[in-house]
Amino acid sequence: MVSREVLEKNPREALKMEKHPLDILEELPRMIEKGYEGVPEEDLVRLQWYGLYHDKPRVGYFLLRVRIPGGILTPSQLRVLGELATSFNNYAELTMRQDLQLHYIRLEHLPEVLETLKEVGLFPVGACGDTVRNITCCPVAGHQREELEDVRPILHTLESIFHDPSRREHFNLPRKFKITVTACPYHCSMPEMHDLAFVGTVKDREFGFAVWVGGGLSSTPRIARKLGIFIPPDKVGEVAEAVVSMWSQDPENRKSFVKARIKYFVDRLGVERFKEELLKRLSFVPEPLTEEPRPVARFFHTGIRKQKEEGFYYVGVPVLAGRVRGDQLLRLAELTERLDLSVRITQRQNLLLLNVAENHLGTVLEKLKEIGFDMDSGETRSVSVACTSDPFCNYSVGAAKEALIELLQYLEGELGKLEGLTIGVDGCPHACAHHWLNDIGLQATHLRQPDGSVETTYNLVLRGGYGKEASIGKIVLKKVPFVDLKVFIKNLVAAYKRSGLSSFHEFINSYTDEELIEIMKGENKARQDEGKVRVRIFGPLTRFSGGLSEIELPPGTLREILRHLETELEGFRGRLLDENGKLKPFVKVFLNDEDIAFLPDGLNTTVREGDEIMLYPALAGGAPPLDETEVHELAIEFEDKTAHDVLRWAIENLHPRLYIAWSGQVEDMVLLDMAWRINPAVRVFTVDTGRLHEETYRLMEEVYERYGVRIEVYFPEPSDVEKMVKEHGVNLFYRSVELRHLCCYVRKVKPLLRALSQVDGWVTGLRREQWASRHNIMKLEVDHDHGQIVKVNPLADWTEREVWQYIRENSVPYNQLYSRGYRSIGCEPCTRPVAPFEDPRAGRWWWEKDAPKECGMHCSIETGGFEKIADKLIREDKHGYKGS
Ligand code: SF4
Ligand code: SF4
Repeated sequence: MVSREVLEKNPREALKMEKHPLDILEELPRMIEKGYEGVPEEDLVRLQWYGLYHDKPRVGYFLLRVRIPGGILTPSQLRVLGELATSFNNYAELTMRQDLQLHYIRLEHLPEVLETLKEVGLFPVGACGDTVRNITCCPVAGHQREELEDVRPILHTLESIFHDPSRREHFNLPRKFKITVTACPYHCSMPEMHDLAFVGTVKDREFGFAVWVGGGLSSTPRIARKLGIFIPPDKVGEVAEAVVSMWSQDPENRKSFVKARIKYFVDRLGVERFKEELLKRLSFVPEPLTEEPRPVARFFHTGIRKQKEEGFYYVGVPVLAGRVRGDQLLRLAELTERLDLSVRITQRQNLLLLNVAENHLGTVLEKLKEIGFDMDSGETRSVSVACTSDPFCNYSVGAAKEALIELLQYLEGELGKLEGLTIGVDGCPHACAHHWLNDIGLQATHLRQPDGSVETTYNLVLRGGYGKEASIGKIVLKKVPFVDLKVFIKNLVAAYKRSGLSSFHEFINSYTDEELIEIMKGENKARQDEGKVRVRIFGPLTRFSGGLSEIELPPGTLREILRHLETELEGFRGRLLDENGKLKPFVKVFLNDEDIAFLPDGLNTTVREGDEIMLYPALAGGAPPLDETEVHELAIEFEDKTAHDVLRWAIENLHPRLYIAWSGQVEDMVLLDMAWRINPAVRVFTVDTGRLHEETYRLMEEVYERYGVRIEVYFPEPSDVEKMVKEHGVNLFYRSVELRHLCCYVRKVKPLLRALSQVDGWVTGLRREQWASRHNIMKLEVDHDHGQIVKVNPLADWTEREVWQYIRENSVPYNQLYSRGYRSIGCEPCTRPVAPFEDPRAGRWWWEKDAPKECGMHCSIETGGFEKIADKLIREDKHGYKGS
């Protein structure tokens, strides 16, 4: 039984408690009847338990992840997947957990799709959501000559424990949980990044498993911790259940969705205590293991290799970036049926054919080429991976698959076929394609310029490794435009090839970061004009450069270059350095992303060819805004911090380029009061839609009287309002969800966009318990909908009770509408009081039944709520509201 505290703190737990996600399927006919727009957000979240995620840009479409244990497919299963992929845009993706993903699926397709999958034993229960995800193993399991044991029976045991729908406790875990079982000498299933890994080894001539726990990536990566125990194969199920239940039953792990992964639990307990607690739960005493298994080499089963069965081979089939067409799957199914082959999906997003008789090898290779698989691609092309990202993933910041393909093509064009390297490209910090562990890791991120424009760039991660070299990589270059990064990586790989060293890992580790950067940039002279330093000028400073945003100057010290700039560009004369050669206060200077105020030699720092100097107006807050990784890391740190701590951080780091959003709600008053106590000059803004309650205007005045804070008010464009009202009437919102969205867009969203374009960060009163789409909000986020500024949600884990407690304890004024039964304050015609035990959402747009109750001000990342709204807006924009 989950405690009240947990239910209050983590609304995801309440969602599971209110209705078990597995039960959602019974409601599918009702959902289809109501239509996508009418499905409550909570139910969209529950559908994840059947592998369904909202597909980002296509309103009403879903991604369906088909869970394929161990990636093991029969030819008939492959045929069915091929047929489905063919009917859904002829497209599928292979994932790093040996799943296959279909896209472009609509609610009404689901009954038939799920039934079809069920008939061939691929029912996707537990494919996503807070479950044990697809359990992986070596794709050659059972046939590999070098394997220590065939782990497929163990895989089946684990499968029967964790994916049996009657064991409902296993479908209500604190978060997702990733298990692998391997006896592959190459550790190809990457046990080091798993929540729980059973790694085959031999002790005293007995085969058994080492147990590793608490690995995981995202923005706080961990290599799995080794427990130093040896367990016999028949005890794997028991140990797995004990680990999962130990983690799952500790209420601490359910308090925050953000910190619910087992890696944090292992951090909290420490390895020894974790082991102690685990042993208490076991019916046997595992033997100690002094030597943990290590892989013999890194190998991901590419190419053609002999199987343990004499005269048979397996063939690795490279699938570039894991993208495959339905017709390719169908033709492959035909081949496998004809020649009696087996098929597997690998963890490197490839396919693998098993049981190819020697005399069929030629035919198979020829056929694979015919189907469109590049059988001559180098190893790097085969084993490099990219996450789903654009155009499907709600979290994506930039392209991953296209970036990987372009990078590979460029590198191969410059350097020829590549071997011995792995590249992993991710579209955001979640690291689905392991950018932390690949030889070369790329993670998309945004570079926001002070003028508000946003450029997609990439962080470059080096020093990561799998297997014997298991290590978390390091971001060596930040926010590099892709066009430059390609050249940098080419220079690096060329230098590696010249070095003659046996592994990229060894090559990288024989240099410091600075030397690596020199290698990357030093050989990049051709592109950067020999002997020049690039000076980039941002925002209002371009007024002094005659509109120039970039200029190249000869190298020297920073001071010399700035003097040179003053001479070259008349507008800068006397504006950068004072008579003593010191930097004037209105300008911030960065050298290769480092604020020069923190460089030991300051203005005396030597600037070399290829370096980049950036000039920002100090008023703009100076520092380039934080990127996704930094924000994600901070958010994890802030998860245990108080609202006051978070708010203080925001004010100290972002004020005066920080706004507190205010709409007269009780949460806004808590934030205003708290912020004012930290810094009375805090800036607060509101959007006056023209339809607010009189009580809200009165509270605005009270705020001024009590705090001396004049709330900055943004209004809608009069021409927009006039046009909308002329076309649809004053109370258009009552007529349809579309028109309500239009009204919110014109009256709220557009002024909000204008307000947020003025700042680098904003503070909101969002709380997780408010809507399903807010369950996983972090206390700090990058706001992708508002120019990549920082969004601060200090009250994310507060309950309504805590909000009122603060109000009372601190005698904070509040909107009098609350005394009349309102629990959510918005526009006068669209809010109403609710009964004490009614859902507060019932008070907003009450005439709409289950339509998502968001207005576009805060996007809904899980369910794509914002995209739903955006879709409406785009349609309306055709009528000319955008950009007016
Ligand atoms: S890494 Fe980010 S963008 Fe890529 S699939 Fe994962 S969550 Fe989406
Ligand atoms: S809440 Fe109602 S009145 Fe206010 S902007 Fe939205 S639809 Fe219009």
